[in-house]
Amino acid sequence: MKTRRHILVGLGLALAAQTGGAVAQTAYPDRQITIIVPFGAGGPTDVVARLVAKQMEATLGKPIIIENVGGAGGTTGMTRVAQAAPDGYTIGIGNAGTQSAAPALYPNLKYDPAQSFDQIGVLNHTPMVIVGKTALPAKTLAEAIAHFKANEATLTQGHAGVGSTSHMAGVMFNAQVGVKPAQVAYRGTAPAMNDLVAGQVDFMIDQALNIIPQAKAGTIKAFAVAAATRIESLPDVPTTKEAGVDFLSSGWNAMVTPKGLPQAVREKLVDAMNKALDMAEFKARMVELGSTIPQGADRGPAGLQKLVEAEVARITPILKAAGVVGN
Ligand code: ASP
Repeated sequence: MKTRRHILVGLGLALAAQTGGAVAQTAYPDRQITIIVPFGAGGPTDVVARLVAKQMEATLGKPIIIENVGGAGGTTGMTRVAQAAPDGYTIGIGNAGTQSAAPALYPNLKYDPAQSFDQIGVLNHTPMVIVGKTALPAKTLAEAIAHFKANEATLTQGHAGVGSTSHMAGVMFNAQVGVKPAQVAYRGTAPAMNDLVAGQVDFMIDQALNIIPQAKAGTIKAFAVAAATRIESLPDVPTTKEAGVDFLSSGWNAMVTPKGLPQAVREKLVDAMNKALDMAEFKARMVELGSTIPQGADRGPAGLQKLVEAEVARITPILKAAGVVGN
């Protein structure tokens, strides 16, 4: 009898746990969600995160707040994401640096971009643009390179920390054209941009997302777009090829969560992300900021997993051969 009672109690508890689990999952989200941006406010990753968050709030019906956790090329923030509870209330927005270059550059990295997260999806691809401070005497990329070479002793280049997209693009460009600036690391390319506008650093290479508003306002000089085609909203800026340098570089952002999310929660997040990316307001802003939104299989969890694995495999030997060292 006693045994039977125990079995029944056990069954009851198991059922309650199952029902509780189901309720918890269907009720998701029942409170505020945090998106960790691993760079400073106002930069490319932050801009994309805030736009997507605004649209996802509409679908999920709960506030989404952004927490900027900069440092170590974005790996500080992404470590925080990897180590958070996998309950759907902590989301991270990584980029080509944190999700593909970091393992080659940080021997003590506490996450593996391909294993430590549940991938939600790729948000955008954005070409890089080579820009300089307005005080530079150069009008073209060729003139800028000549000026950089002639002024190497004092030349400075801003970037968002070792392994960030701007850092990697800078290293590749410098090696290709033969310039050796002193590199200045910031907690994101928004603060780097502030110093470029103020004339505190000479040049940098960053996603069009960060460049377009300043280039249009004339507060920086845009020399070339490192892509095969020009950007619609910067029609007068040539491609690198047109400017005489065969240098291509682009960046991307992606949404991930800590590993182990309940399937139902993951599906809700993927659905909310998809709806956000398909909203007219988001699409229009991305075009304005020179970015493309991935479509179909390239966008969701499987598309992001494939991108991360392919990019880690592609970039690791390049960074090692280039002698780029992290910390
Ligand atoms: N654009 C940055 C990078 O170079 C990061 C950012 O501020 O979004 O990785």
